[in-house]
Amino acid sequence: MNLVILGPQGSGKGTQAGMLVNKYGFTRVETGEILRKIAESDHPWGKRVKSMMLKGALVSDDILNAVLKETLNMSHPKGFLFDGTPRNFPQYKLIRDILALKGERMDKVVFINISEAETVKRLSSRQTCRVCGKVYNLVTDPSPHGDKCECGGNLVQREDDTPDAIKKRLEAFNHSTEKVIEAAKKEGVLVEINGEKPIEEIHKEIVAKLGL
Ligand code: AMP
Repeated sequence: MNLVILGPQGSGKGTQAGMLVNKYGFTRVETGEILRKIAESDHPWGKRVKSMMLKGALVSDDILNAVLKETLNMSHPKGFLFDGTPRNFPQYKLIRDILALKGERMDKVVFINISEAETVKRLSSRQTCRVCGKVYNLVTDPSPHGDKCECGGNLVQREDDTPDAIKKRLEAFNHSTEKVIEAAKKEGVLVEINGEKPIEEIHKEIVAKLGL
């Protein structure tokens, strides 16, 4: 089974993707991770990718297409799980076209939905350790050491985690993924999940709806 997990920031998408990968052995395609490695390497695209990532802009289609084409050559005995991609309709189409060349299809698109108010609440309570990068949440996962991390580092709020900036990122997400969600609905592969529930419950709902 090949599937996509989509959801706005703070929806818990990455957590759910990790749980599915561990339990069912999907091959995870996390474009953010692949692009971070390219940005840090002496790859010919390294500088371009880094500057786009730093701006929070989407990496250009030519680079992403090449990355996806290469990545999808990987063996994937249990199927691919796409996390962080597609970010827009052309990417969705490209992935489907590459899969079709292999005689495969996109079986499901899981959309983890949370309200704007919940996104703002979750992200504006997010704290990151300055030293090791560990992420806590004042509401859902507070540090037992107050404003310190378990490593002793100070916890700070990300500069772009202000309510206004969060709303802007959310608008951009909604705008670019709207067509992906519409297409998946038309194709009958969309699975909608309410993301405002405990992690384990969401996981069970996804597993049940995917028939895993
Ligand atoms: P992420 O880790 O998914 O939040 O991605 C981090 C950054 O990588 C994004 O802000 C983009 O600059 C870039 N990126 C990740 N995935 C994609 C994608 N599918 N298309 C374009 N850019 C991407």
